[in-house]
Amino acid sequence: MKKKIAIIGAGIAGLTLANLIKQNSEHVFMLYEKQESLSLEEGYGIQLGVNSIKILNKIGFNKINIEKIFNPKGVDFYDIQNKKICDLDLTQFNTEENKYTTLQRSTLIEFLKDDIYTQHLRFGKKIKEVSELKGKILIKFDDNTNDLVDIVVGADGIFSNTRSFFEKKKNEPKFKKAVAVRAILKSKSELDIDEQKISLLMGKNCHIVIYPVNKNKELNVVSIIRQKKYEPDNIKSIVENVLTQNPKMEKIFANDLKVWPLYSTTEILPSTNSKVFYIGDAFNGFLPTLAQGAGQSIESAYELFNLLRSQKNDIQKSYYQERLKRAKIIRKRSNFNFIAFHFSSSILQAIRNFFMKILIKRKSFVSAYLKIVYKN
Ligand SMILES: Cc1cc2nc3c(=O)[nH]c(=O)nc-3n(C[C@H](O)[C@H](O)[C@H](O)COP(=O)(O)OP(=O)(O)OC[C@H]3O[C@@H](n4cnc5c(N)ncnc54)[C@H](O)[C@@H]3O)c2cc1C
Repeated sequence: MKKKIAIIGAGIAGLTLANLIKQNSEHVFMLYEKQESLSLEEGYGIQLGVNSIKILNKIGFNKINIEKIFNPKGVDFYDIQNKKICDLDLTQFNTEENKYTTLQRSTLIEFLKDDIYTQHLRFGKKIKEVSELKGKILIKFDDNTNDLVDIVVGADGIFSNTRSFFEKKKNEPKFKKAVAVRAILKSKSELDIDEQKISLLMGKNCHIVIYPVNKNKELNVVSIIRQKKYEPDNIKSIVENVLTQNPKMEKIFANDLKVWPLYSTTEILPSTNSKVFYIGDAFNGFLPTLAQGAGQSIESAYELFNLLRSQKNDIQKSYYQERLKRAKIIRKRSNFNFIAFHFSSSILQAIRNFFMKILIKRKSFVSAYLKIVYKN
């Protein structure tokens, strides 16, 4: 049966679901975004594992201009002094059609918005009130417009406002006492790294990830640094924590820097309304230490889309059970990496490095730890 769907939030999750519905179903939908435009800021890189590329290819990602993306062949792990520890071959998870991909977030959003922009996206929309009417949900927006729909999808990020209208139990995201500092490097760094791969440098209470985002040799740098408080005006002193460990990184942090506080969701809670679903960070926000936040946004959109297409009656339970299972796998690994990448004791660092060298060569370990993430 044809359904009317309101998707709240035009981030990666909401836009992916919109594309899937538009291209492969008869459902009618509208995407409501609170901002007045889509954020297309450059300089924000994103890694997409084959699990998400496989889904994006179903909506035409394989036709994207290949100059705008990159397919790194592996990850090189270093200590903070740039001494190589070991490397992971990412091509082992690839197939001919689906390859591990890095790109700017703006490139992904541009691609996702193309088919949706004119007819299916409304800006400046924030929910003011919701009510149930004849088995449907009436959404009133604060600009005094409204929509009567069969299904509401909350895709409005980790601080989901949609949840506050439908759920009694709050699920406040927790500040993880860490910040992310990002920059785009347009010239060669002083580090001895392979710029065709992802480089991950692990230091005391911090780690740095550097990877190409296109064929233009632009490198995305993201540094996750432990900080008790989020003080965005104090970037210099935040970055000082890294520079004291390796002054060679000065050139990297001399670029235009952006800083974000890191949050993650404490509990994974179901929707209590059979007509309301949460996808992406609104379902669960992960730490970025497995680079799976966007990937999980895409996966959750695909899982929900398949259930909507299936015409089954009670899809809420199936959606939650499957999503919970996936989210637990990703969360466990992201949280573990967050600890292991940041050991401050040199003894623990040495033990970690020793085990990494051994384990990364073991097929059974790589399969249990990562293959399950990339769903191969
Ligand atoms: C430092 C860092 C690095 C990361 N790196 C990676 C990576 O390499 N790979 C990866 O896969 N993921 C990465 N992520 C995670 C990834 O960016 C997010 O998980 C993903 O963007 C979440 O998408 P989303 O659509 O669920 O939410 P969002 O991107 O937050 O989008 C939500 C949208 O909803 C809108 N909105 C909010 N409130 C309302 C409202 N009340 N009404 C209407 N609209 C609303 C917002 O304006 C926004 O457009 C990283 C995250 C961080 C912090």
